[in-house]
Order: sequence, then C-alpha cells, then structure tokens
Amino acid sequence: MHFRTKAIHVGNPTDSTTGAVVPPIYVASTFVMQEAGKPQEYDYSRSGNPTRGNFETTIAALEGGVRGLAFASGMAASHCATMLLESGQHVIAGTDIYGGTYRLLHKICSRSGISVTLADTTNLDNLESSLRPETRMLWLETPGNPLMSITDLAAAARWAKAHGLLTVVDNTFATPVLTRPLELGIDIVVHSATKYLGGHSDLLGGAMVVSDAELGQRLYYTQNATGGVMSPWDSFLASRGLKTLELRVREQSRSALEVAKYLAQHPRVGRVLYPGLPDHPGHELATKQMQGGYGAMLSFEVQGDLAQAKRLVESTHLFRLAVSLGAVESLIEQPATMSHASYDRADRLKFGITDSLVRLSVGLEHPEDLIQDLELAISQL
Ligand SMILES: *Cc1c(COP(=O)(O)O)cnc(C)c1O
Repeated sequence: MHFRTKAIHVGNPTDSTTGAVVPPIYVASTFVMQEAGKPQEYDYSRSGNPTRGNFETTIAALEGGVRGLAFASGMAASHCATMLLESGQHVIAGTDIYGGTYRLLHKICSRSGISVTLADTTNLDNLESSLRPETRMLWLETPGNPLMSITDLAAAARWAKAHGLLTVVDNTFATPVLTRPLELGIDIVVHSATKYLGGHSDLLGGAMVVSDAELGQRLYYTQNATGGVMSPWDSFLASRGLKTLELRVREQSRSALEVAKYLAQHPRVGRVLYPGLPDHPGHELATKQMQGGYGAMLSFEVQGDLAQAKRLVESTHLFRLAVSLGAVESLIEQPATMSHASYDRADRLKFGITDSLVRLSVGLEHPEDLIQDLELAISQL
C-alpha cells in the first residue's frame, strides 16, 4: 500500500458490533478480566487502550517500524527515549534542536548524572570529536530547529552503529511523508504529534516508533512504568489527522517554497533558511533525503535588531503569533524570545539563533494571501 492509503486503512478497523466506519473512542480506564491473573490484551488504559492502540498501529506503519507508542506530549516521548540511559552515560545532540529538548537534556537528564555535548551534526567530523568512552546515544533533528540545518541520517546512523550508540531522530519537522529515519538505519523516531501528525492545533501528543521489537518492548516497559500516555480523545484526533497528513505536508511544503522564494528576493530580509532554496547549505542533501518536498518550516532574518523582529512578528494577520507549528493555520514567532528562550543566551548566539531571526510555520492558506500578509508587515517596519 502507498503511504496515504496506509494512513487511512491501517489501524482504522470498522467497528465489529455496529459497522461504524470510524472506530469508537474507548474512554474506559479499566477492562473486565476474563479470568483473575490471566493476561489479556487490555486490562488497564495506562498499559493499553484500543483507541491509543489504533493510532500507534498507524504511525508505526507510516514510519516503516514494527512498534509505535503514543505519549501525552512530544516531550513525554523524548523523555522516555532518554530513560534508556543510565547515570554516568553521555549523549551527543545537535546544536539546532527543539528548545524543550535542549532543556530536557541539560536541566533534567543532568540531574540523573547524564551528560550532554551539543555538536553541529551537519558535519560528521564534529561527532567524532564529541565522542567519549561513555557516549551511548546520538540525538538528531533534521531539518533542525530553528535553522533548518540538514543532517545526513544514513551516514550518522552508520557512524553511530560503528561506535555502539543508539540513534534517536526527532522527526517532527520532516514527518514520515518526507523522511523515514528507520529506513535509513536510525533506531528510534520520536514526534511531537501536536504538530503535523495532528495537524489542526487541537491536541497535545507525542509518538515514538522503532523497528526492533525488543527495543520497542523496553520502551513500552518504561512508558507503562512512568505513565505519560496519550489520552483516548487525543488518540482519536491524532488518528484523524494522519489520514490527511500526506496531502497537508505536500501542499504546505509547496507553499513554503513560494514564501521562501519571495523572502529571498526581499531587500529588507537578510538570510532565508529553507532547505528548498538552492543556496541553503543542506539543499543537495535534502533533495536526496527528503522525498518530494522540503517541509513547511522556514526561518529568516529581518534587517535590524530584536525590536524590529519583535515588531514584525506582532504585525502579521494571517500568520498568528504563537509557538507550535505544523497545523493548517500559519504561525509566526521569534525564536530568541519564544521557542528557544529556554536555551542559555550564550548558546543561542553561539549556534546562530540571532535576535533578528523569525520562524514561520506555513499552513494551508493560499500562498498568495500569506505572501501579501508578510509584504504588508515588512513594509511597515
Ligand atoms: C513541539 C516540539 C516538541 C515537543 O512536543 P510537545 O508536544 O510540545 O511536548 C519536540 N520536538 C519538536 C521538533 C517540536 O517542534
């Protein structure tokens, strides 16, 4: 089956009692035991729930894995992956990553004696120089956040395998429509399902997919023991979102390319960071690694300082001022004061997240309307 067929048919069984085309939402917290002490498929909803299970089945199929797990948020999924680590171990993570992941690694995992080194993962030499005897995990995001840097996942996976490291890719920006990390040799994919998978800014969720059943079982054990599971209602919404994932991502990617081209020729705009532009340092790699689109996230610098960028993000109308991304409505934000405020400022500047940087999540509106909205806001600077 093709991707969009799987998105509609895998994990979406018709209801056997009524014939309902859409499976019902199972809100029950507990399930009647057929026999005391005898294991059965469902016994308690933290351990397993049919509605959550349907979403897990679909996302596992779309990522090309064997096991999917759904979480209460993207951070709960990421946290579960870091719980594979033990005190004294070390993680290498990209410099261009989600602000909340930076905070998880530096401020929470550090309390359990886990250390982290950030490296520019677009150059594999930087991985080599960050490696320590106690390194156990490599954490990647591509396109990166907020600079849209592109990391070669197949090469990074090969390097990590050779050094006995587990590899994790946060695939929130690319989505399995454009990149399927497991097929490139990556061990664990995590998602904020809040973004493209849900796609409508109306749920909070996370997902994880692996292609190794034993690793999946270890992660399930941790998830069940710590409890950060997705609710039945959010699972239903996430499943519904997946059905249109491919169409949304392809169309939004096309619009993002148009918006990027418009910004690139604007005299009051500095750098435009979008892997679909030929002058982006990751363009060639993205063309190979991302299938049929470059995603719908882009960043650019306005001429001026923090205040100018702040004024811009506050003056668009269709692009709403909000963190988050990946939904049908376009959003605009300033990484330095919003999505990446949880970075230490020195690290932000070191990694190129400047004060005048603006990040866009291009939605499903008509691209001409979006460009007009930006034109008006930029002309008022
Ligand atoms: C939003 C986001 C997360 C965190 O997900 P939540 O659902 O907000 O917990 C992780 N990674 C990326 C790339 C994100 O955009």
